[in-house]
Parts: sequence; structure tokens; C-alpha cells
Amino acid sequence: MESLNEIINKFVKEYGKAGKVLSERIIELFNQGLTIDMAVTQAIKDTDFFNIIQEQIVNSIKTGIELGIGASITYLPNEIKEPWDASAMHLSTKLHGADIEMRKRIVDALQKAFKVNESVSKIKMALYDGYHSGNAVIRKQKLPNYLSELIKLSRKLDLEDKEKIELLRLERNALRRVKDNKPDTPLRASYNQLIEALEKGQNKHIQNATWVAVQEKSRYVAERIARTESARAYHDGFMAQYADDESVVAFRWRLSSGHPIHDICDLYAGADLYGLGKGIFPKDKIPMLPAHPHCLCHLEPMYKEELEGKKEKDNVEQGGREFIATLTQKQKERLLGVYGSREVKSGVSWTARARNYSNVKLESRLSKGKLKGSILKEIYSDIQNKLDWKKEFKVKCISTVKHFSKKHDIILSDHAVIRFISQKSGKGKRHFSEKELVSIWNRQPNYKESKNRLVKYYEDIAIIYNASDKVVISIVVRKGVKKTWEVI
Ligand SMILES: [Zn+2]
Repeated sequence: MESLNEIINKFVKEYGKAGKVLSERIIELFNQGLTIDMAVTQAIKDTDFFNIIQEQIVNSIKTGIELGIGASITYLPNEIKEPWDASAMHLSTKLHGADIEMRKRIVDALQKAFKVNESVSKIKMALYDGYHSGNAVIRKQKLPNYLSELIKLSRKLDLEDKEKIELLRLERNALRRVKDNKPDTPLRASYNQLIEALEKGQNKHIQNATWVAVQEKSRYVAERIARTESARAYHDGFMAQYADDESVVAFRWRLSSGHPIHDICDLYAGADLYGLGKGIFPKDKIPMLPAHPHCLCHLEPMYKEELEGKKEKDNVEQGGREFIATLTQKQKERLLGVYGSREVKSGVSWTARARNYSNVKLESRLSKGKLKGSILKEIYSDIQNKLDWKKEFKVKCISTVKHFSKKHDIILSDHAVIRFISQKSGKGKRHFSEKELVSIWNRQPNYKESKNRLVKYYEDIAIIYNASDKVVISIVVRKGVKKTWEVI
């Protein structure tokens, strides 16, 4: 799905920014003499890294819901934090686990890289001691060993070819001077150049290693959780829309555009498991989505009329087998495993062997009531935040919104509620009562204002509302249809 991908792209961008700050702080602290373990712990604390990343993950999840329901929400509903996958973990536990894993990955990657660094430092010290000790004989005997060790280590530093050649040249130079028994001053200059080149290599090595640790190894953990949880939240929002919609009876499984590997999703999209057609599932029998980590498949609602003449039946085993029969041997093995593929052939149910197949059906964690609750909360906060409204007026607006929602199941936005409260009465004014408003609301929409906005226009009163969440945006008194309205 294009837009779920966009959520992840945004997350990756934000992670990159926070990761850069963290990397710089780790290097700074390491250079101040802290151990890797301490530098990483302190840098995470100093830069507030985990909080920033958690906030970004939660943001991605929230955007996922909004994408699913086609409306904006103010808070992440608590239900979205509830366990849903095989791990049975609450979101906060998952986030905490991710923090631990990210820290470990950073420390591990750096420790590995810094081992090379330490060895280089030791030789650097030996060289330095060499020409300060005054013991020219020992110095010159040991030097070739140090240098050959250095050549080995320098291969592990992230040097460019040009720099490697330069390092090699300096090493040869130093060696030649020892061999030729040249006076100490040029030899010392040679050492100094060598050490300088090594330090440059070390700095670069530390920087690259830190980048890989933070931007690749650790990011993988955060990105996986952002991707999977926001996909799940998307489906929660999407399904909540249709939970009470009786005209939608089934869903068609759609593969995401970038779906490189042949897996369970191909079967879901290609097999006729319920006699309704390929990839079509009755509303209450949709497999768990996302079907596996990084799964970006989505659903398409199917209306009653589209399935006319078809009757739901349990065709799971048969439909699955028919689909599997169309696969190449390699594809079968990817889906069922090498042994599994043989077992299924000899009669074992494909559902017992297919990787990532789940018997758990998709159910939205968001009920309609909860959604309505979060929309109302948003409207209340919009009203509370009006700077130029008097306190008593705000109270009146909020209680009117509450009243309409409770009594008539009509959600008035901040704008619509003023239209109702602040009606001008008097000569030539068209006044509308609560009763009149409700009776218009109970009729069919007859115009479309824009892609997502519908209009119920009767008796010179137009109720304009969002098609997705049914929030009333405005109530307008007018004579005649607006030119921009489209008849429906
Ligand atoms: Zn999938």
C-alpha cells in the first residue's frame, strides 16, 4: 500500500535525524574516555533517543489508524495498545523490548568494531614509546613486527584506496630508515606521519561503525515494530468503518504492489477459500492482517450486489489445494517447506503446514463507539482551545454537542454547533429547531460537495458532513442549490 509505505518513509527519516544526533554524542563521549557500554548508555540518555523513537512509532501507528478510517484522531485509543499477535504483548512491552534490543545491537556492533581500534591504539603507543624510550636497539628490532601487524590491521580500517597506499608508503619509509640505520630525527618524523595517518583511519572507522550500528542494526528493530504496528492499526481503523455496515458482506485480499516473495499472502489473494471467488473472505473470516512482519497487504470491501448468486461455503482445504496445484515446486516449498510440501501432497492439511497461516480471524480493536468517543474528544478540545470564546459559551457548545451525540447519534463539529446555537431569529430569518434538524438528518444525502463531503439539503437547510466519520461540518440556511454541489 502506497500510503502505509509513506508512513514508514517518514518514520525512517525521523529515525535518521535522531540517530545522527545519537551517533555524534556516542563518539563525543567515547573520545572523552568512556567505555563503549557507558558511552552508549549515556548518549541515549543525553539525547532522549528512546523517547523520540517511541514517540515516532506511536505517531506512525496513529497515522495508520487515520489512514484506515479516513479521518483524523487526536489520541491513540487505548485499544490499539492491546496485544494482537502471537507474542500476546501489550504495545508498551513491545516498545520496552525494542529499546533493550536496540541498545544491545548498538553496543555489540561497536564493540566488534572497536576491537580493531584498540589494537591500532596499542601499536600506536608502542611506536610512540619506541622513540621516546631512548633504547634504539630494541626499538629498531621490534619495529618491523609492529609495522607488519599494522598493515594487517589497516585493512580492517575503513580507509580509501588512496589512504591505504599512503599508509603503506609511510610504513615502507619507516622500515627503510630502520634498515639503513638513518639518524633518529628523520625516523621520528616518519613515525609521526604514520601515527597521524593511523589516527585519521581510526576516526573514520569509529564514525562508520557508529553509523552502521545506529542507522542499520538498531534501526531495523524500530522500523519493524513501526511497520507492523501501523499496518495493524490501519486494519483496525479500516475494519471499524465496516463493522456495522450491512451492505458490505465480504472483503477481497489485495497484495501490496511491492510483494517480492511468494508467501501465505499469495494464497490468500489467489485461492477461493469460501466459494465466493478468489481472494474473497466473508466479513467474519478474514485472516489476521498483517499476515507476517512487513506484510503490507490490504482489503477491499465487497458489497452484497457484487456477490449476488454466490453462497458462502467452507472451501478452505479444497480451495487451498487447488491454488497450491498451480504453483511451481519452488513456490510450494517456499509456502509449505520442503517436507511440508511432501506431507501436504500425501494428505496433511495445507493449513497445518503453510508458513504464517493463522486460524485467528481479523477483528478490529476499535469499536464504533470508541471511535465516536475519540472524535468527540477532539471536538471538545477544539472548542476549549478557541481563544476568543467566552467560558460560558464554550460550556454551552460542549453540552450541545454531547446532547446531539447522545440523543440523536449526530456528531456536530465546533463549527456546526455554533450554527445551531447562534441562529438569528426575527423577520426574514429561517430558524431551524432541533427536531427539524434531526428529521433532515434522517433523510438520504442528495448532493456531494467534495470527494469526502456529502450534503443533505431539504427545506432550505443544508447539513454538510464528512462521508467517512459522519461528522457534521456545517449547517447552512440557503435558498437554492449551490453551483458546486453535484447531484447524487
Ligand atoms: Zn501480505
